[in-house]
Amino acid sequence: MVYQGNRITVTMLEDGIANMQYNAENESVNKFDAETNKQFGEAVSALEKADDVKGLIVTSAKGVFIAGADITEFVGSFKKSESEIKDWVVHVNDAFNRFEDLPFPKVAAINGAAMGGGCEMTLVCEYRVMSDKAIIGLPETQLGIFPGFGGTVRSTRIIGIDNALELIATGAPKKALAALKLGLVDATVPADDLQDAAIDLVKKCISGELDWKAKREEKLVPVKLNQLEQAMAFNSAKGMIFAKANPKQYPAPALAIAAIEKHVNLPRDKAIEVEAAGFAKAAKTPQAESLVGLFLNDQLVKKLAKQHSKKAHEINEAAVLGAGIMGGGIAYQAASKGLPIIMKDIKSEQLDLGMGEASKLLGKMVDRGKMTPAKMGETLSRIRPTLNYGDFAETDIVIEAVVENPNVKRAVLKEVEGLVKDDCILASNTSTISITFLAEALERPENFVGMHFFNPVHRMPLVEVIRGKKSSEEAVATTVALATKMGKVPVVVNDCPGFLVNRVLFPYFGAFDLLLKQGADFAHVDKVMEKFGWPMGPAYLIDVVGLDTGVHGAEVMAEGFPDRMKPDYKGAIELLYENKRLGQKNGVGFYKYEMDKRGKPKKVADEATYELLKTTTDSEKQEFDDQAIIDRTMIAFCNETVRCLEDNIVSTPSEADMAMIMGVGFPPFRGGPCRYVDQMGLENYLALCEKYAYLGKAYEAPQKIRDMAAAGETFYA
Ligand code: NAD
Repeated sequence: MVYQGNRITVTMLEDGIANMQYNAENESVNKFDAETNKQFGEAVSALEKADDVKGLIVTSAKGVFIAGADITEFVGSFKKSESEIKDWVVHVNDAFNRFEDLPFPKVAAINGAAMGGGCEMTLVCEYRVMSDKAIIGLPETQLGIFPGFGGTVRSTRIIGIDNALELIATGAPKKALAALKLGLVDATVPADDLQDAAIDLVKKCISGELDWKAKREEKLVPVKLNQLEQAMAFNSAKGMIFAKANPKQYPAPALAIAAIEKHVNLPRDKAIEVEAAGFAKAAKTPQAESLVGLFLNDQLVKKLAKQHSKKAHEINEAAVLGAGIMGGGIAYQAASKGLPIIMKDIKSEQLDLGMGEASKLLGKMVDRGKMTPAKMGETLSRIRPTLNYGDFAETDIVIEAVVENPNVKRAVLKEVEGLVKDDCILASNTSTISITFLAEALERPENFVGMHFFNPVHRMPLVEVIRGKKSSEEAVATTVALATKMGKVPVVVNDCPGFLVNRVLFPYFGAFDLLLKQGADFAHVDKVMEKFGWPMGPAYLIDVVGLDTGVHGAEVMAEGFPDRMKPDYKGAIELLYENKRLGQKNGVGFYKYEMDKRGKPKKVADEATYELLKTTTDSEKQEFDDQAIIDRTMIAFCNETVRCLEDNIVSTPSEADMAMIMGVGFPPFRGGPCRYVDQMGLENYLALCEKYAYLGKAYEAPQKIRDMAAAGETFYA
C-alpha cells in the first residue's frame, strides 16, 4: 500500500505498476471536493517517496470515473476575493503538476464519466484509455467558469487550439469514439478490457516501446503553432463560439479564450498561473454565481421530486382526455418515454391531428438518424387513439386536457371518475382554473390534482403539479412520479389563480401593457427584453401564446387578484384580441406572420398594429429609456414571485427560480427572479419599487422583501 485514504488509495499491482484508485467512501460518485484534493496531494507525496514504482494507472471503483469538482463547495469558495481564489487554484494545481512530473509513466483508465476536474485528472497522465461506454468533457463554461485544474493548458497542447476551444466553449461531453477522433484519448476498449488495456499501455511505456517522455514533454512546452496559425485558430473559434452565445450574457467562453490566447506561448507552470487568474476572474462574475446556483437549484428540485415520489402509486398505463395541442403533446411525450397512453377525444379529426403531430416529431428524429423506423413504429403504437372510454377501467392516471372551460372540464372529470378504478388519479392540465374548484365536482377529490404542462410539451421541461385543498399526498406523489417518468421536471405548488408560473407572468404582461398605454413602442420593448436575455420579448411571447389565451388568462387573474391585476383601462392585448388578432395562430397579433423557407412562422412589422394602438395610448406619450423598461417589467415579475413565496404557493426560492427559467424562459444567466433581486441587493430593489410604486400595487414591494432587507437577509446564502 503506497497511500490509503477514504477517497483515494494507491496500491501496488504487479511488476512495479501502481494503481491510484478513486473510490469515495459513502458517496455515489467520485468528485474533487476539498478532502479529495487534500488526499490527492498526500498521495502524490507518497508516490514521490516510493522508489519501487515503475508506472501507474489511474482508475475508479465507481460507475463514473470522476464527476468533476464538488459544485456545492463553489458557493463558499467563490465568495472569496479574486486573488484568494487564484491562490487556491494555483495551490490545487501544484499537486497536479507534481503528479505530472513523477518519474514514471501514467495511464488513465476511464471507465465512466470523466467530467471537468475528472477530465483534467486524465490529461495529467501521458496516456488515456477509455471504455466505449464512458464519456469525457470539460463542461465548466456551463457554470459560468472554465477549467481551472490545468484543463485549458493541457487540452490545447494535446488536441490543438481549435479542438480545445470547441471542447471548452461548448462544454459538450464526448463519447468514446468522438474523444478518440479528437485525440483526447489514445484508445477505446470494451468496458471489461479496460484495466488490462491500461496495464498493457503502461507496460509498453516501461519497456520503452512507447515514448511516454515525449508525450509528457508536449504538455510542458508552448503550443507548437506559429503566430499566423494561432491567429487563424483563435479567430475562427471566436466566430463560431460568439455566434452561439452572447459573451455579455455568457462571458465564460470568452474569458477562457482570452486566458488561452495569453498562455499558449508559455511553458506549463506560467501557463497554469494565467489559467488560474482567468478562472478567478470568471468565478467572480454574477453569471457564475447565477449558473452555479442554477445547477444547485436543479439538483434540489430533482431531489424534492424524488422525495415526493416516495408515496407514488405504480403507473403502467395513462390516459389523456383531449387530442388538441396539449393532449397530443402529452400523448407523444408519454409514448416516447415508454409509457402506453390512451388518447381520447370527441372528434376523430382531432385524433388524426394528434397522431399526425406525434408521427411528424418522431419522423424528424428518424430523419436525423436519432431513431430507427422500427422504434418509431413501436413508439407510435403506445398511443391508442379512441373516441370512447372502453379501456379506461385499467388506467392508473387520467390527464384531462380538454378546452379551457370550467363547465366542460367539471363535466368531463365527473364523467371519467365514474369509469375508472377507485385509486386512479385524475389530473387537469388547466392553465388557470382553480383545482379546488374543479375538485368540487368529484366524488373522490383527494385523487385529483393539477398537472400543468407547457407548450410545446416535448420541448418545455417544466410541469407544475398543483395541490388542491383536498388533494392527497399520494395523488401529488403519483403525478410527480409521472412527470419524472415523462422526462419532465415537476415543481409542486399550491392552488391559486394562475398557480405559480401564470400568476407571475400576468403582472409582467400587465407592466408591458401599461408601458404601451403610456407611449412605449412594443417592438422596442421586445428588443430591450431580448437584450436583457429573454428568448422573446413580451409582444412576441403573447403572439406565440395566443392573444385569446392571454385575454382569457388575464380575466381569471383579474378576478383572483383585482388589487394588482385588474387594470382600469383597456390594454393593447385586449384591443388587438377584439380586432381578431390572435397572434401566430391566425397569422397576426402585435406582428404579422409569414412562413419562412422551412415552413416556420416569421414575424414581420405591421403598420396596422400601430394604427390600432393609437386608440389606447395616452394622448401625452412618454419616452422610456431601456433601463426603465427593464425595471418596470422586472419589478412586476419579481414582486409577484415573492408574493407566491409569501402565500406559500411555492415553497422555496430555488423552486420559484427554476420554475420561471424552465416555464417561461427567464434568462438562465440571471439565475431566476429571486437571484435577480439578490444580485441587485434588496435595499436597491426596494428603492426601485419605491420609485415606481405610484404605478400601482403590482409595483409595491411585498412585505417579505421589506422584512428580509430589514433583517439583512437574502434569498440565497
Ligand atoms: P385545444 O383546443 O387544442 O384542444 C382541446 C381538445 O379537447 C380538442 O381536441 C377537443 O376536441 C377536445 N375535447 C373537447 N371536449 C372534450 C371531451 N369532452 N372529451 C375529450 N376531448 C374533448 O386546446 P389545448 O390548447 O390543447 O388546451 C387544452 C388544455 O390545456 C386547456 O385547459 C388549456 O388551458 C391547457 N393548456 C394549454 C396550453 C397552450 O399553450 N395551448 C398550455 C398549457 C395548458
